[in-house]
Amino acid sequence: MSTNNTTTSAYTDFHLQFIAGEWQTGKDDSSNTNTNPYNGDTLVEIQQATKDQLNEAYDAASQTQEAWAKQTPATRAAVLYKVVNILDQRQEEIVDWLIKESGSTRIKAMVEFSATRAITLEAATFPNRVHGEIRPSNTPGKENFIYREPIGVVAVISPWNFPLHLTQRSIAPALALGNAVVLKPASDTPVTGGLLLAKVFEEAGLPKGLLNVVVGSGSEIGDAIVEHKAPSLVSFTGSTSVGKHIGELANGGEYIKQVALELGGNSPFVVLKDADIEQAVKAAAFGKFLHQGQICIAINRVIVEDEIYDDFVERFLAHVKTLNVGDPNKQDTAVGPIINEKQVKSLKEKIAKAQEEGAKMILSGEIEGQVVPPHIFTEVTREMDLSRNEVFGPLVGIIRAKDEVDALSIANDSMYGLSSAVFTADMQKGLRFARGIRAGMTHINDISVNDESNTPFGGEKNSGIGRFNGEWVLEEFTRTHWISMQNEPREYPF
Ligand code: NAD
Repeated sequence: MSTNNTTTSAYTDFHLQFIAGEWQTGKDDSSNTNTNPYNGDTLVEIQQATKDQLNEAYDAASQTQEAWAKQTPATRAAVLYKVVNILDQRQEEIVDWLIKESGSTRIKAMVEFSATRAITLEAATFPNRVHGEIRPSNTPGKENFIYREPIGVVAVISPWNFPLHLTQRSIAPALALGNAVVLKPASDTPVTGGLLLAKVFEEAGLPKGLLNVVVGSGSEIGDAIVEHKAPSLVSFTGSTSVGKHIGELANGGEYIKQVALELGGNSPFVVLKDADIEQAVKAAAFGKFLHQGQICIAINRVIVEDEIYDDFVERFLAHVKTLNVGDPNKQDTAVGPIINEKQVKSLKEKIAKAQEEGAKMILSGEIEGQVVPPHIFTEVTREMDLSRNEVFGPLVGIIRAKDEVDALSIANDSMYGLSSAVFTADMQKGLRFARGIRAGMTHINDISVNDESNTPFGGEKNSGIGRFNGEWVLEEFTRTHWISMQNEPREYPF
């Protein structure tokens, strides 16, 4: 699949924004200093966009969308396939950006690159997978046609934790399906969350104006991007609190629009007494500490049946102690830096609160710069902050469950319902348990961190509305239009 092109030179000029097909300087007075979370190096200084520049982006998207939607499916698919080729050619450059901008370890950067590639490849099939329906009619002489059309202009707002993938999983399907996009990446990751992808789509020959990347402060363009007349859909991935605000704006303002909200999680990882403990220990460590726990579907609560609790804790502690912590660029680093100072502060508060609430800290370590080593707490109860709220860092609480029934009750005792996992040797029991969990995703004998481009990704309860990937995103990013045809004069009552 990958083409060897050794002459490809690295992308530059990330201080500019991609608006209306041109690389422009932001016109706001404020700027975004993009830094490396591990060593504090400044990567790029971006002058931020004004509301006028946001309007320019929406004008360009609105003006170019219809012509793009009329292109043949093969033409749209070809751009997406080209994007896949460019991703392959530039894999090293992209992985390097993920490490230095988002503090991804090399392992996480590769996981993210692969997921990004997979959703792009999946999206390349979408232009040819859109289909309508013909439905019978109870009115004599009538035929019912159901068309699926592009939704129009899509606003995309993405987070900093898996910036490349979580942006691409919205923009690749949106563009493949004949829509235009205005994207606002997270302030911590303007390059991997947007500008880098704009370079790739530009190189792939996407017509100008269809993809716009606007880097701006929340106060200048945050609400405006949602309230603008142009977008028919707002695809938001981020925290539950901001997501609620976006939902209110999208449906409480002058223009009603659809929203896809992929929000926070609090994934339970349940280990039942018949589980393969060694395998569950390794899974728990990877599913908790990948990307320092800064993943919406990361394990947030480890729930272990009483009979094996002590054994699990002992083995988990021994395994986590072997993880390498520090420089994300090193091949064998498991736990790298936290994205920013604010998040580090919130983790320090969580560590203090866990102890105050009576949890027993059995593993800790010095916090150096933005690197927070793994912290493990035992004797955690379902009422404690560690259990109730999303941690988003390398801290984990292990909860003791009396039995399987108690474990399920604890697992469901959350206002979130994104992902979940259960370990057991009995697959029938695992399936029964999984079906009892109120979540969008449950994995038996695996971690909660799973995402495949052809399976539905999304949550229940406060974890959001809508699903990504496969047919599910295809439906989300198109609109349904019922058109009926009356083939013979109809008799009206008056
Ligand atoms: P966040 O909600 O703080 O920010 C997300 C995005 O929204 C950023 O681009 C931010 O700049 C923007 N934003 C903030 N205020 C805004 C406003 N008023 N109007 C418009 N945009 C605004 O989230 P974050 O800290 O970047 O990401 C972490 C959170 O995201 C966690 O809660 C995590 O669980 C969640 N998340 C969910 C998923 C999922 O698929 N469900 C995936 C990744 C992250």
